[in-house]
Amino acid sequence: ISFLPPKKVKDYHVWLIFTKVTERSPLRYKFHNLLENILNISTVSLKFHIIVDNSSKYLATNEISDVVSHSNKPIYYKFYDVEICAKAIEDIVEVLTPHFSSKPGTYYSDALFFISLGLYRIAPVSQTRAVLLDCDLYFKQDIRLLFEEFSRFKTTALYGLAPELTPVYKHVLQIYKSKHNSTFGEYYHLKNITSHMPHPKGFQGYNSGVVLINLSAIRNSKEYSVIIKNETVTSLTAKYKFRGHLGDQDFYTLLGFEYPHLIQTLHCGFNRQLCVWWRDHGYRDVFNFYFKCKHPTVILHGNCNTKIPK
Ligand code: UDP
Ligand code: MN
Repeated sequence: ISFLPPKKVKDYHVWLIFTKVTERSPLRYKFHNLLENILNISTVSLKFHIIVDNSSKYLATNEISDVVSHSNKPIYYKFYDVEICAKAIEDIVEVLTPHFSSKPGTYYSDALFFISLGLYRIAPVSQTRAVLLDCDLYFKQDIRLLFEEFSRFKTTALYGLAPELTPVYKHVLQIYKSKHNSTFGEYYHLKNITSHMPHPKGFQGYNSGVVLINLSAIRNSKEYSVIIKNETVTSLTAKYKFRGHLGDQDFYTLLGFEYPHLIQTLHCGFNRQLCVWWRDHGYRDVFNFYFKCKHPTVILHGNCNTKIPK
């Protein structure tokens, strides 16, 4: 009998995307603030994996040096070239872009929106799990809490995501919903529970600003390789008359409804979005039912360029 080495559960891999950045982009200070924030609040030793283009890499290096010089902690990091990453997930991007991208078309820009779905090919195989974070986040509590969610994953879960906190999917699904009485795109509520329905309490969809990725499970999943094929994606989008523009999170939202075993739902405090755009664009009456989050906030997400209150 030989004993296998213990699983490397102590690896804390954080992936960030930092591309198309210029001297003046807001993304520069968002990146700076997030690194500083995570470094201050984390009780575990993290490894950062940063996807960059050539000019952004130079700016990232400067920001990292600046954060390190003002703190007494080191930052372990590695850069990955966005064009190489895009190449590695070309087939996935080609399948998903026509359904989930606003302006299909240029260079590697499409690939950026779908990195999380192909990260299992980009990350070294020694990484068994990783989190992919937007740069417009602020941690109110230890990032260790986020990694601890992996241990709550149901055995079939490949990804962990928190709910989308706006009615965007009610909007996207309005044609389908005009013909079908469905809880898809409806807010989570406790009325009208019928146990035979898959999401009797309403399903708002997912937001991909914070993504937990069970890399080894995805690499081993026969089902996943079928799910990202054109036939599956085309039939899913046809069924729901779904045409989105939010990239990977549109796809996770469809999976969450149709293949709920693949996704672990994190509570809304792990991705407390702040964007209120939909409140002022036709959904004032229901907005708050979607936006409310009764869980304690671990991560604030200043999406659609919303200022994060500190
Ligand atoms: N991003 C990037 N370059 C860009 C725009 C976005 O690298 O020009 C990355 C960055 O990591 C950012 C993420 O993509 O956090 C998602 O964009 P953003 O957070 O602005 O979208 P939102 O959350 O507002 O939908
Ligand atoms: Mn964001």
